[in-house]
Amino acid sequence: GRKFFVGGNWKCNGTNEEVKKIISTLNAGDVPSQDVVEVVVSPPFVFLPLTKGSLRPDFHVAAQNCWVKKGGAYTGEISAEMLVNLDIPWVILGHSERRLILGESNEFVGDKVAYALSRGLKVIACVGETLEQRESGSTLEVVAAQTKAIADRVSDWTNVVVAYEPVWAIGTGKVATPAQAQEVHAELRKWLHANISPEVAASTRIIYGGSVNGANCKELAAQADVDGFLVGGASLKPEFIDIIKSAE
Ligand code: 13P
Repeated sequence: GRKFFVGGNWKCNGTNEEVKKIISTLNAGDVPSQDVVEVVVSPPFVFLPLTKGSLRPDFHVAAQNCWVKKGGAYTGEISAEMLVNLDIPWVILGHSERRLILGESNEFVGDKVAYALSRGLKVIACVGETLEQRESGSTLEVVAAQTKAIADRVSDWTNVVVAYEPVWAIGTGKVATPAQAQEVHAELRKWLHANISPEVAASTRIIYGGSVNGANCKELAAQADVDGFLVGGASLKPEFIDIIKSAE
């Protein structure tokens, strides 16, 4: 089966003091064992060493982005090699905030995913439609195109988790209904089945993100094709522990 996966995306938030506080709350939390749930938290780059060094050993860390190829003369970028060097196992790529605000294309995200995997990183690859795209009926087409750009460049999906994050649900308090999430997750899995392989479709975790909180996580987690969450705002709060507990 697919192990439940809960990611906490801290985005561009936190001071040194706040990060220490979040970590101590996480470290004190009573959660299911690593056999039941995989927990990964993603602080801003500058807090990765602090987080890695003080976080409980059963939780892991992710960067929120990395450069598309080998490092060098790319001012302001952080390379996959640097993350590997610091023993950071995971990276989030293709978050909608980077696609929409920073202009990352499907192809660029696909290149990043392929390069990060080639360096040995594990990748949380984000896909999702805007409200306009949903309302015009193109949700499945959009997420399929985003997924295809990755599939065109990646053959081994072992170290990929797909995060379905509808843009209209991110930071809005407008969570997808369990049925809405399940529908897209099932379609994504069908896409993986038809375009990659039955094995990849059966084993790849598809997690949901967008206004997940301690109150709505249980019902979402109960959906057959929802294999976990990528949590933004609530991952900065003690209720992240409750979301992790929805794994059981
Ligand atoms: P919120 O949980 O704040 O809606 O953010 C979701 C998200 O973008 C996680 O990557």
